[in-house]
Amino acid sequence: MRGARSIKDLSREELARWLAERGEPRYRLDQLEGWLYRQDVAGFHEMTNLPKVFREALEEAFLLFSLEEVAREEAPDGTIKFLFAARDGERVESVLIPDRDRLTLCVSTQVGCRMGCRFCLTGRQGFRRNLTRGEILDQVLLVRREARSREREITNVVFMGMGEPLDNYRESLAALRILVSDRGMGFSHRKVTLSTVGLIPQMRRLVQEGLDLTLALSLNAADNETRSFLMPINRKYPLEEVMAALRAYPLPPRKRFTLEYVVLKGVNHSPRDARHLVRLVEGLRVKVNLIPFNPFPGAEFERPSEREVLDFQAWLRARGISTFIRQSRGQEISAACGLLRWREGA
Ligand code: SAH
Ligand code: SF4
Repeated sequence: MRGARSIKDLSREELARWLAERGEPRYRLDQLEGWLYRQDVAGFHEMTNLPKVFREALEEAFLLFSLEEVAREEAPDGTIKFLFAARDGERVESVLIPDRDRLTLCVSTQVGCRMGCRFCLTGRQGFRRNLTRGEILDQVLLVRREARSREREITNVVFMGMGEPLDNYRESLAALRILVSDRGMGFSHRKVTLSTVGLIPQMRRLVQEGLDLTLALSLNAADNETRSFLMPINRKYPLEEVMAALRAYPLPPRKRFTLEYVVLKGVNHSPRDARHLVRLVEGLRVKVNLIPFNPFPGAEFERPSEREVLDFQAWLRARGISTFIRQSRGQEISAACGLLRWREGA
């Protein structure tokens, strides 16, 4: 019988216990983690410095991967969207975005999302389940293998795919620790970004974890009325409290918070919105990323014109806020921000 549990879903302690119970030497854990996170192997049998009986025991007890690639689409701009199937048939999407010398992978943390933001297709579709740490990591590992076959390395990982990472705190954090650990994948903290709608208790908890990740906040509006209309979570955690939680987050020297701001035509880009935003971030080191809304069928918003986005950017810049326009990539294949979704069946 093949094991049904992905080995990467075990915590380090659980794995250590399992090894101890089998009477394995202590260095086995390090060897195993090397194979799991730093090499690209397709099966336990390829872990050639492990004894054969031990490899067979692993094979019996565990699965090596919890996801399987089922489809892939490549956009003319080089963006690739991967569709993975989980063991229970749920679908997970990840997006690989090449940009000059950077290769960024955008991963999902949930199937669907509970937050229900009005402008987000994932949010409109509702929530199915949390992803496990193994499923989050497998997105990186499977895409890394693909990238390496083209002699490229993933340079950045962003938790900006489907789902709200802090709503799946335990599994997202476990995956993040492996990503930035030298025992794991060894990404620099600066190259891993977590984007949140602003779940305050979890943001406060994150401060205690001692992981100086890059934190991005999806702001999207600078007054409570507009923000609550767009993002129901704002009724629970209003703007001024979210900003206070952000201020409490330890920001390394020379670093800035990223504020993401989806620009919705006629909704949140007036001079008044710019003034509110300026007041909100006073004294805080931030950069603002404006994301022109990516429309989807049935959406109640429209994409703003280029002029409108440029004007909004200019007003913010004039008040000293570094503001960038982020053109979502991979629009042709619905890989752009907010367009990821879960699908029934294949
Ligand atoms: N749940 C987290 C991370 C995933 S969403 C969060 O909301 O921060 C990643 C980004 O996509 C968010 O900043 C969100 O505001 C943006 N987004 C969602 N729907 C969008 C759309 N239709 N067009 C453009 N950006 C969108
Ligand atoms: Fe969820 Fe983020 Fe989409 Fe809001 S924008 S519904 S939090 S994925």
